[in-house]
Amino acid sequence: TGTVETLEFQSEARQLLQLMIHSIYSNKDIFLRELVSNASDALDKLRLETYRDKDLQADTDNLHIEILLDSDARTLTVRDNGIGMSRDDVVNLIGTIAKSGTADFLRKLKESKESAGQDLIGQFGVGFYSSFMVADKVTLVTRRAGTDEGVRWESTGEGTYTIESLSDAPQGTSVTLHLKPADDEDHLYDYTSPWKVREIVKRYSDFITWPVQMAKTGEGEEGSAGLETVNSMKALWARSKDEVSDEEYHEFYKHISHDWTDPLETVRMQAEGTFEYQALLFLPSRAPMDLFMRDAKRGVQLYVKRVFIMDDCEALMPNYLRFVKGVVDAQDLSLNVSREILQQDRQIRAIRRRLEKKILSTVKTMMTEEPEKYATFWSEFGRAVKEGLIDDPENREQILEISSFASTHHAEKPTSLRDYVSRMKEGQEHIYYLTGDSRTTIENSPHLEAFRAKGYEVLILTDPVDEMWADAVSGFDGKTFQSVAKGEVDLGDETSEEKKAEYEDLLKWMSATLSDTVKEVRLSSRLTTSPSCIVGDAGDLTPTLEKMYRAMGQ
Ligand code: ADP
Ligand code: MG
Repeated sequence: TGTVETLEFQSEARQLLQLMIHSIYSNKDIFLRELVSNASDALDKLRLETYRDKDLQADTDNLHIEILLDSDARTLTVRDNGIGMSRDDVVNLIGTIAKSGTADFLRKLKESKESAGQDLIGQFGVGFYSSFMVADKVTLVTRRAGTDEGVRWESTGEGTYTIESLSDAPQGTSVTLHLKPADDEDHLYDYTSPWKVREIVKRYSDFITWPVQMAKTGEGEEGSAGLETVNSMKALWARSKDEVSDEEYHEFYKHISHDWTDPLETVRMQAEGTFEYQALLFLPSRAPMDLFMRDAKRGVQLYVKRVFIMDDCEALMPNYLRFVKGVVDAQDLSLNVSREILQQDRQIRAIRRRLEKKILSTVKTMMTEEPEKYATFWSEFGRAVKEGLIDDPENREQILEISSFASTHHAEKPTSLRDYVSRMKEGQEHIYYLTGDSRTTIENSPHLEAFRAKGYEVLILTDPVDEMWADAVSGFDGKTFQSVAKGEVDLGDETSEEKKAEYEDLLKWMSATLSDTVKEVRLSSRLTTSPSCIVGDAGDLTPTLEKMYRAMGQ
């Protein structure tokens, strides 16, 4: 046992702890879900590490999670004999918040009103820190598997924590909560009651694949009766559909995604035959804060015959569906499989194609059967999904089918392409669109005038990715996409020869005068009230794309 050091929490961690101490979540029971979830992750990691590193001096007997209650001392302890943490791990993982988007989240929280704040917090998982909702002091003892140095960490959550070395810590981690005083009125903090704790474990952590054990209740006194397992440990994806409730699926989603909000949609798949696998996938109800960050985690979890192999298996999900969470359990892969091998694996590629198609068809069904749900999905993830129009030509048609776009047809409601096509006017051959920074700039664009005057609907495309796909995708349902800002647009009324003759001199003079900046000045039928507008050549970059390239230094 070494000297006790006192360290400060990183400032973002401090702010989140304050939120916890002042109990912002109305449902405090979830602290146990978080601790059990961490313990389960730690056991998964240990098993994985022992596959990878045959020399690791780790104890893998009787891997389990244990919950110990002491009503006299008013403590609740969750312990696991999993991977554990080194001293550096403890400082980095527990003393700081590495989660991307934390600073952003805290800023938004500060700016938001009380009620919006509640809503925001619900989305932001605080994991281990949720202990401080129910405890006024937390003690964590841990030892990393394969090492000798144990660590004892303790904090009241108020700004600092202490840390010291231990010589005799068991492998794994134990987290002891010194519970806040019981609330006499509703026993809010009665987390030393075995019945209550069992009930919480059943409700939130039943599917955990490791045994969660507690002292036997009932006959006999504590200690004498031994331990019993309180969760069923059944892999949710392996159980039949009608056996599992929505709530169970939702809790499982929260465990694997570290999200605190229910998913929007649950998708199950069973494949038999040559490539046997089961998949349980989820569409989240909100986009993560790092959806567009380069280093964001993506992909689903991979299991092989019920054994957890890896998180964030990007080989199983195309990049544009990186927000999809879930589990794929494959029957015929080696437990030693690596990320590199997966990228090459034929079977994995086949599974990925199937998952992708299934997600696209799920969204399509949602579109017709649950339009509001679809609208939520699209407003959260549409920007990412549209990347698929460029990345995945093979599924382009299906992606277009499930896409929707703002349009001049309606001020707020986006339209599907199918609906656009059904409204096309007699003789209209193209699907017209205009790209730009915002709806307002686009609506005020002179390019739109003649289209508006003629009653042609124009798609209003304001996402950066729109610039890219609109160029790459030729058409939908036999109709080509046509930018109203490019090339000569034939709206049916020729500018007459007399008019051309009448303006010939003026046009010549203007072309000459402006020759440094424009290629040509011509009469146009596309304007109704503006005197002139600038038009790109059919093959040109749009102004926004030009700006993007320039910003990237090209
Ligand atoms: P998250 O689980 O979302 O990463 P947490 O706040 O729950 O966030 O935990 C932070 C980190 O602390 C975990 O990612 C893990 O590395 C580490 N950790 C927490 N509990 C344990 C444990 N029981 N064993 C090993 N590491 C743990
Ligand atoms: Mg966690």
